[in-house]
Amino acid sequence: MKHLSVLGKYFYKYRNRLLAGMFFIIASNYFAVLAPQVTGYVVNKVQLVLSGGTISSQDKEHDALVNLFINWSEERFEGTSFIALACITILILALLSGLFMFFMRQTLIVMSRHIEYDQKNEIFKHYQELDTNFYRMHNTGDLMNRISEDVSRVRMYTGPAVMYLANLAVRISLCTFFMAKKDWLLTIYVLAPLPILAVIIYYVNTIIHRRSEKIQGLLSDLTTNAQQSYSGIRVIKSYVQEKAMLGFFDRNSEAYKRNAIGLAKVESVYFPSMALMIGLSTLITVGIGSWQALNDPATKAGLIVEFVIYINMLTFPVSAIGWVASMIQRAAASQKRINEFLHTVPTVKDEHTDQKAKLTGTIHLRDVNFVYPHTGIHAVHDFSLEIRQGEKVLILGRTGSGKSTIAQLLLRFYDTTSGEIAINGQPINTVSLKQLRERISYVPQDVFLFSDTISDNIAFGITASTRVVSPETAATYAVIDREIRTFHNGYDTMIGERGVTLSGGQKQRISIARALMKDSDIIILDDCLSAVDAKTEHEITKNLNQYLGDKTAIIITHRIISSIEFDQVIVMSHGKILEQGKHESLLEKRGYYAELYRMQMAGLSDEELSKI
Ligand code: ATP
Ligand code: MG
Repeated sequence: MKHLSVLGKYFYKYRNRLLAGMFFIIASNYFAVLAPQVTGYVVNKVQLVLSGGTISSQDKEHDALVNLFINWSEERFEGTSFIALACITILILALLSGLFMFFMRQTLIVMSRHIEYDQKNEIFKHYQELDTNFYRMHNTGDLMNRISEDVSRVRMYTGPAVMYLANLAVRISLCTFFMAKKDWLLTIYVLAPLPILAVIIYYVNTIIHRRSEKIQGLLSDLTTNAQQSYSGIRVIKSYVQEKAMLGFFDRNSEAYKRNAIGLAKVESVYFPSMALMIGLSTLITVGIGSWQALNDPATKAGLIVEFVIYINMLTFPVSAIGWVASMIQRAAASQKRINEFLHTVPTVKDEHTDQKAKLTGTIHLRDVNFVYPHTGIHAVHDFSLEIRQGEKVLILGRTGSGKSTIAQLLLRFYDTTSGEIAINGQPINTVSLKQLRERISYVPQDVFLFSDTISDNIAFGITASTRVVSPETAATYAVIDREIRTFHNGYDTMIGERGVTLSGGQKQRISIARALMKDSDIIILDDCLSAVDAKTEHEITKNLNQYLGDKTAIIITHRIISSIEFDQVIVMSHGKILEQGKHESLLEKRGYYAELYRMQMAGLSDEELSKI
């Protein structure tokens, strides 16, 4: 329960709705409990008319409003017209109770929807502040579940559970009050089975919940299984594994069916047992009430009728206790999971930053070391580098040598473990992340495109004020314009599941175009030419040469790019700089670079190049 206490701020925010909801609950129940009193009175009156007796003052122990109605109507109406008036009054009471119940749902359930909305936004905002390391440690499914399923479960607490609990408390208090006022002993007898009903329902509910959780899990396995079969269909077919996959699916499906049938059996016991308990309470009321009436002539039939109606009014709210209790338990478990994420603090902090820092100028990396936090891999060792403004730098090196890590450190996806990175003398961890990242165009190694149109993908994050070139120009630089124009809808073609499937090289070039559209001082391209052919690569680099101008550029590749004259070439190995210098000096060194160059010039295949 303590996990749910964080929701207090939302209840406070929507306190007016909450208070109004509570008022409507009281009003709805108040009018509801008046109806049995009027009914009881009418039954007594009919009984007395038939037996020739008179109404005693004890029979008038009703709520003040009911007494008022009785006194007023008795003076004016008699016989059938009195009964007709009483019926109309009961109808009006039911309508009033229903109307307030409508308002109650309108305020409390609507409040829970507002809270759900706020909570989703709070979680999403927090997700966006968390760093890359957090995303490495949690899978997408987990993140999705917390923002959708867990939030929905918490809403079941802020809405229905709160509403039913308050309703139950008010209804029990009012019914018990009026019942005890009439006959407290009979009240104790008839209420006795209700707690048993609540406990039974709680237990049955727990079983149902446990089973449905299991079924949910099995269903998710089944869906994942089916999904993998669809997405991996080419692998499955080429390895002729259709039959094996079908068997696998069949087993999953069988387990799901078995559990679902088990749940249906438990559920089928649920409602009859509830009906039994309600029947029992009614039976006790009628039995004991009649027995009392036989022994004590003061007991009237009206009392029994009134009590039977009260009991029927109580059964649904009481049976909801068990249901509400398990709803609260689930909400607490979900809120606990949400809190775990909300309490995660980003390791890359964005505070105490210098808003006036200028981010153009020399980039300095001084004795930078970096260890990936959750794996302990020491990816960058004592790395020092100076890149003056406007310089073009090529970073080469074997796979896993730390090239992408350097790019990510420059963007502050991670903070260095030791050492410092500064731009224009300003350490980058004293600059706001927004300021830093706005000045850098970055093409990550693992290209990501949104399920959107091509032109929106290229112009991602660009506003009219930050736009320097059109998507078409950027695409022309990235040598993808011509291909885009061959698509049916040109730049408005949708990408992804609802649109065209792009080749690896096309995706890379669109993400290059995206980076070229951005107005930035520094451009970092991480291995974004790996899936394009040599001719296209040459064309792109030639365009880049023209486009880059006085921008600082860091280009990470596995191949030497000859159409750009680099100011520095860095060859990395095991997180360190192995070779550094200009093209000519590196050729003279006769090291990795010279060998790579020689082989590339000799037109060696990629396989041969990989042997260097
Ligand atoms: P490639 O040429 O294959 O892209 P790279 O030079 O870019 O390689 P990095 O991605 O920087 O290499 O990786 C350097 C080292 O850090 C590798 O040993 C890799 O296993 C490790 N590494 C990379 N990313 C992560 C990560 N997110 N978490 C943990 N370790 C990582
Ligand atoms: Mg890399």
